[in-house]
Amino acid sequence: MRRNWNRRRRNRRLLRTGILVTLVCVMVLFGWGIGYLARELQNSMGKGVYTVAVDAGHGGSDTGAVGVLQESDMTAETAELLTQLLAADPHFRPVATRTDYTATATPAERSTAANRAHPDLLLSIHGNSNGNSADTAGFECYPVTPGRREHDDSMRFAALLVGRMQEAGAAIRGTNGIRYAYYGENDQKTIVDSADDTKRSETTFTILERSRCPAVLAEQCFVTSAADVDAFGDDDGCARAAECYYLAICDYFGVTPHEADSTAASAASAAQ
Ligand SMILES: [Zn+2]
Repeated sequence: MRRNWNRRRRNRRLLRTGILVTLVCVMVLFGWGIGYLARELQNSMGKGVYTVAVDAGHGGSDTGAVGVLQESDMTAETAELLTQLLAADPHFRPVATRTDYTATATPAERSTAANRAHPDLLLSIHGNSNGNSADTAGFECYPVTPGRREHDDSMRFAALLVGRMQEAGAAIRGTNGIRYAYYGENDQKTIVDSADDTKRSETTFTILERSRCPAVLAEQCFVTSAADVDAFGDDDGCARAAECYYLAICDYFGVTPHEADSTAASAASAAQ
């Protein structure tokens, strides 16, 4: 008799615990669902905060090309300045693809780091080089290649980058500054003008190939050209390029640049 009573009490306790656990689970799921819906709604209304992956193309033991300056110094400085511009603008959340600019990281590792942050856009910053001619100069960039899911938006971003760099005085390479890079057998690289939009099976730069968002790799200037470095590679040059990238990112998402906001605000307050 007493044993039955004990068992009933234990069963009731188990039932109560079960109900409590279920309730907690339902509440957690509900909270997560509400948060998810709010984020989706915010994004669909176009008022979201855009996550932008800023990839400093070289760093650590990977110095990149060396000319008038070292490519990794230029990519770190530009990436840092761009990150600061984006961070100062409430429209954006910049994310880095390497733990710090002196860390060595492969394109695959940087791509994994970027994808983890679920970015809306990725910009990989590089410098070009031509050891045979100090006269070779200009800007060019590489979007995700034709036939890939992110091609169209990557192409749109590439055109905006070219436009902003051109506006800042950069010489544009090729017909429109946009090219495709393909790696064939034995890592043989082929560069194709963007007028040729044939869908090819070869892969492009790893950072673009593995990106889950629209992505462009920019060759900011030739590190082997003193004139190019002067315009877009030294301290002032990196600031100029970072500004172009920031404005192109604003163009891409259709938002008013933060600086234009503050310029307008200070003009308005000066007028009062
Ligand atoms: Zn590079």
